[in-house]
Amino acid sequence: MRCKTCDYRLWGILGRECPECGASFLPSEFEFVPNSVRFCCPHCGQDYYGTGPQGHLSPAEFDCVRCNRHICMDEMTLFLTTGVEEEQTLVERMPWLDRGRVSFFRAWMRTILMGMVSPGRLMRLTPGEGSLGRAWWFATLTSVVASLGAVLPVVVFPVLMIGSRSGAALGMWGLAVLGLLLWPTVVIGLWGAFTHAVLAMTGQRAFGPGRTYQAMCYSAAANVISAPPCLGVYFTPVSMVWWCVSAILMVRGGQRVSGGRAAAAVLSFPLLLTAGVTCLIVFVAIPGIRTAQRAVVTAAPQVNVALVSSNLLIYAQQHRGRAPGHASELVYDPGLPAYTLVDNDWTALAKTPVANTDLQQFSTASTAAQRATAQAAAKALPANVVAHRLGHFVFTCHGIDFNNADPGLWTVVSAPEKRRASSDPNVYIGLANGTTTSVPRATFTQSLAAQNALRASQGLPPLPDPRRVTHTQPATAPAG
Ligand SMILES: [Zn+2]
Ligand SMILES: [Zn+2]
Repeated sequence: MRCKTCDYRLWGILGRECPECGASFLPSEFEFVPNSVRFCCPHCGQDYYGTGPQGHLSPAEFDCVRCNRHICMDEMTLFLTTGVEEEQTLVERMPWLDRGRVSFFRAWMRTILMGMVSPGRLMRLTPGEGSLGRAWWFATLTSVVASLGAVLPVVVFPVLMIGSRSGAALGMWGLAVLGLLLWPTVVIGLWGAFTHAVLAMTGQRAFGPGRTYQAMCYSAAANVISAPPCLGVYFTPVSMVWWCVSAILMVRGGQRVSGGRAAAAVLSFPLLLTAGVTCLIVFVAIPGIRTAQRAVVTAAPQVNVALVSSNLLIYAQQHRGRAPGHASELVYDPGLPAYTLVDNDWTALAKTPVANTDLQQFSTASTAAQRATAQAAAKALPANVVAHRLGHFVFTCHGIDFNNADPGLWTVVSAPEKRRASSDPNVYIGLANGTTTSVPRATFTQSLAAQNALRASQGLPPLPDPRRVTHTQPATAPAG
């Protein structure tokens, strides 16, 4: 019992004024834990114990058993019961609902601490009915402040880059603020609904849904774990687990149900959510990615032959109409990406030989080293070569003068050595004017014959089937 004005200890004082500050007081204005306070008759000193509600005497007015005078509680002298410390006389209050008596910040911090460390006690101190609005206010305030550190960096950096005045930045800010303010309500709204539904389906409970929502709101204290800016993200799993455990203990105490039922009820929503997200990934996202990947792989030869063909033309235009001695030159002149030559199959790079190295190492070497390797590869080709292979492509451009060539001449043929079972029915071919064409696989032999007729008219030796040209065996012109 302390003076409400100056906090002076008022035990053992007969007068009804604080000796320190003069403020008047009455014992009935205080609450005590029952039996913790001894009331003494002001006339004879007889002891009485406060066993009633709020630790008061019951009744408050009576005749003293020793001196027989009529006395009332408010005129008696109060002492601590022997063996009781002052703290033990204090009635414990739910700090959040007791905000008028301590500062707002202290009430908030105490509620967070109690919600995390002894959630069952916090729930016991919270009246079963009413005060749901204040529970929501606690949850929103705590969760919003705790997630500020995690959300702000995500928003601030993009806005700094876009510029803070643009409409897009304002829109992002608006969305972020809205999400920041509303997420606790959305999460607790859904979570509480699932939790109470499971409780309702599995038997008796002490209170209505409001009590379950109180538990979900006050257990949100655990969100402070993820409050540290930037680092908080890494603690989020911990705060989520803590929130679940606190909520289970609060639901168990608050609704007076078994621990198992409380756990089943509280965990129903997170488990369903996890299952839903997993299903979404397995049945929607992964097939979508697979389809996209397949489309890329299927389209790769068509796209890449166009790239190779146009790079050949660029090379020829810069070298008086002549094709490179070996196709690996294209990688540094004019700069064809090496993976184009293996249809974006990165694993094939290391399996594609270029002189005494492979395309993987070649693609990362210095330009000087690349030039030396490409020259060695060109030198290694037979003098009468008509076609050589590099990766998935067979180059048929030897001897063609691009400046005066018939635009129908084949310069490169897309012909992977190991054709995939599902590959499309066409063979893709680059032409001397830098464009491409496709020939049905079924009639390729006829197309090759027509091409050789065209080559003959241009004074070029005939081609064998380009699909049979390997890295080790370039095609050569027939003797004579
Ligand atoms: Zn005082
Ligand atoms: Zn007495």
